Amino acid sequence: MTVSEFLSKKFEKLAPYTPGEQPQDKSYIKLNTNESPYPPSEAVARAVTKTEIDDLRLYPDPECRGVRSVIAEKYGVEPKNVFISNGSDETLSFAFMAFCDEEHPVVFPDISYGFYEVYAQLYGIPYKKMPLKTDFSVDVNDYTACGANVVIANPNAPTGLCICVEDIRKILETNKNNVVLIDEAYVDFGGESCVELVHEYDNLLVVRTYSKSMSLAGARLGFAIGSEKLIGDLNTIKFSTNPYNINRISLIAAECAMKDEDYYKDKIGKITNAREYTIQELKKSGFSVTDSKANFVFAKHDKISGEKIYNSLKDKGILVRWFNSDRIRDYVRISVGTHENMECLIKALNEILEAVE
Ligand SMILES: *Cc1c(COP(=O)(O)O)cnc(C)c1O
Repeated sequence: MTVSEFLSKKFEKLAPYTPGEQPQDKSYIKLNTNESPYPPSEAVARAVTKTEIDDLRLYPDPECRGVRSVIAEKYGVEPKNVFISNGSDETLSFAFMAFCDEEHPVVFPDISYGFYEVYAQLYGIPYKKMPLKTDFSVDVNDYTACGANVVIANPNAPTGLCICVEDIRKILETNKNNVVLIDEAYVDFGGESCVELVHEYDNLLVVRTYSKSMSLAGARLGFAIGSEKLIGDLNTIKFSTNPYNINRISLIAAECAMKDEDYYKDKIGKITNAREYTIQELKKSGFSVTDSKANFVFAKHDKISGEKIYNSLKDKGILVRWFNSDRIRDYVRISVGTHENMECLIKALNEILEAVE
């Protein structure tokens, strides 16, 4: 990124987030940004009518009442416990802005979603990256009574590993003066949600997204569930930045999709089956693979570097994600697509391995 003489000095050293590649042709099997290989449910398509298009002349509901009530019902909370955002990235951004400062630094795992560090830098928040154990699991003792706000993705990305709800309870119990944000972007694929704990802990913020399990990455929809206090603070930030943060089309998509539980359950089942197939086949070919409970697998092979795997797969028309960062440089993260996508992936990987052996 370039820095002009006009940019505020406070952003001079900012290292922005690097999104996964989004090629605008469809020539790749795209397994690099954890999107769903399946379209949203029919009800979503039916909801986007001519009337809705005509109504685009009107501003959307800044309070997002329709979708908040559907989400509240589904998760057994009140609408006042629900916050809707433009992708869950926006909730994360607002939460860092609202709750973190010099007196409330933030901690998160050294290997996790890259945006946490970007937001900490953007808002000038002191932060500490807690090293995961060598097997990439979270050491809960790093976070108990840590005197800082805590951000943990569960399941974590890009490892796919989970932390149990009882460990989250320990963190909440010992950090009552700090916010504990649990990013559940991938929880629908096999993790254990801690959303029930919002009834017990007013310092818990659970963050979710429509982008992964609900096939709506392009609609940009995320939400948070938490105490009325925390949701109120997020609203203070939202109404001070962009009150109309969700467009009308996304609002109806969000409301309709939430009602189509059976459709998404079926697709999630297909994706988790394809994940287990992929893990098994990768192991047969000599890969080490983490025990991912997300819609991606995280794998490495002794005979070939992560970078080489990434490049060789790209040559064969398959996009995966490689992170050029310490501790995980040997790995690639592969999103789980359809079963057929994963058969193509395994075939391509086996050809690549044959060529190096
Ligand atoms: C994908 C992802 C998000 C952001 O998703 P949005 O598309 O902004 O809703 C947040 N956290 C994690 C861990 C993710 O992987």
